[in-house]
Amino acid sequence: RDQSITERLFEGISGRGADPVLIDGPTGREVTAEGLTGMIKALAGGLTERGLGKGHVLALMAPNLPEFAAVFHGTCWAGGTVTTINPTYTWHEVNHQLTDSDAEILVTISHFAETAQKAVEGTRVREIVLIDGDITPVEGTTPFSALMGPPLAAQAPVDYDTDIAVLPYSSGTTGLPKGVMLSHRNLVANVDQSLATTDTKPGERTVGFLPFFHIYGMTVLMNVALVAGGTVVTMPRFDLELFLKLNQDHKARQLWLVPPVAVALAKHPLVDQYDLSTVAFAVSAAAPLGADLANALGQRLGCEAAQGYGMTELSPVSHVSPHGLARAGSVGLAVPSTDCRIVDPETLLDVATGEEGELWVRGPQVMKGYLNNPEATAETIVEGGWLRTGDLGCHDADGYLYIRDRVKELIKYKGFQVPPAELEAVLMAHPAIADAAVIGLPDDEAGEVPVAFVVPAPGAAPTVEEILAHTGEQLAHYKQPARVIFAETIPKSASGKILRRELKAQLTAT
Ligand code: ATP
Ligand code: MG
Repeated sequence: RDQSITERLFEGISGRGADPVLIDGPTGREVTAEGLTGMIKALAGGLTERGLGKGHVLALMAPNLPEFAAVFHGTCWAGGTVTTINPTYTWHEVNHQLTDSDAEILVTISHFAETAQKAVEGTRVREIVLIDGDITPVEGTTPFSALMGPPLAAQAPVDYDTDIAVLPYSSGTTGLPKGVMLSHRNLVANVDQSLATTDTKPGERTVGFLPFFHIYGMTVLMNVALVAGGTVVTMPRFDLELFLKLNQDHKARQLWLVPPVAVALAKHPLVDQYDLSTVAFAVSAAAPLGADLANALGQRLGCEAAQGYGMTELSPVSHVSPHGLARAGSVGLAVPSTDCRIVDPETLLDVATGEEGELWVRGPQVMKGYLNNPEATAETIVEGGWLRTGDLGCHDADGYLYIRDRVKELIKYKGFQVPPAELEAVLMAHPAIADAAVIGLPDDEAGEVPVAFVVPAPGAAPTVEEILAHTGEQLAHYKQPARVIFAETIPKSASGKILRRELKAQLTAT
């Protein structure tokens, strides 16, 4: 269908009038469907007056707040492009993204005003707008109300296939974050593909704690939930207690998680203090979650625990476990209109069903390309429109996908390949282990050896011998950690991924 992402949003929330569609979790402040529509059109009016339309970029660096959705869609309604920035970035990192994306307006909150003011130097940004600037004004910035203009009644003309609606950056797990160009067609397609696999009830409330600046939160929690007729309860930052309380108070039926939160729900003692009996379906995505942990989560909450899979380059969803039909360890089935291949990364030939290889995906959700990086684009989207995911996986006979790990992260021990995710899942299943991460360390004799970082569970003191006895029972000899290092925390990205390069740097520094 020819629609912008904001036309799709309006179609989804039409008829909801005075219903709250967004609720600020900590304060309970509600934004109704009418209120959101009004804000989007007024913001688009203000942006149009500033010339921020087709071909121009607005940077949005904010935590999850109802206004995030308004600014995002206001920019799209004006025909412009939104680039979303991780608000925990340093000014250097913000400056890099503003320069790379050529942004002209930066919308943030007063808490980040100082970072913003430093970051815009030397960029094309000519105005900083503060969402809370009417309450907490900062010199040299524009308050939110002043960004509003005469409401823009209709979608500014855009080319649904070629104009970039949003420019999110990948998580930067394997290198520098890459700007990912997503068209209106990409976003609308992925919303519709995701809707086909969810069964959100009208007015159903979902707690949106995953950052909206990252594609997972943006599509699944913000856009899909709203288009499906749901209400999103926003959380500006993750806090386990508040997350539990909001899910309890809003009687959440579905949980959208990342592995660290899934693990907390499976293991943390606080969980027992809240009533989560309304939860029927919990989905984890963005990084591997071991089948044992998924089971533990499902048993504890009395719900179906499942996984989904995606990447920024796929807007992001390509696989979700269907309700009631999740399989242990699988990320589920391809969403509609999505073709998959499992390809031998060396020969580039399809492998037989059940065999492992690199996952290739084709569908209307495949990005237009990486910003300012035609080489990376050409390596990633190959002949026939196939996107090489860089992830290793296999299909079962019914088409369920199992992701093992990233091709690049496999540890090459002698002639064997060890996926860190597998060893991590085994470690995490140990009751005395709260968190774990595995990296490969160069070794003269073996090529590379697995090294495990282990965070003991509160009050537990596992010994190296105990841990090795546990992994020894579960895994072949070549998958055993060559070293176990106790740590206080595991460095993770905002989207819940283990930052292995930071662990590697820690090791080589010592
Ligand atoms: P960068 O591309 O910048 O290095 P990134 O790949 O982590 O960072 P994202 O686009 O946020 O950036 O993440 C996509 C990746 O997340 C996938 O390629 C895959 O490796 C991983 N992933 C997503 N869902 C799952 C899952 N259910 N199981 C295992 N891995 C997953
Ligand atoms: Mg990636």
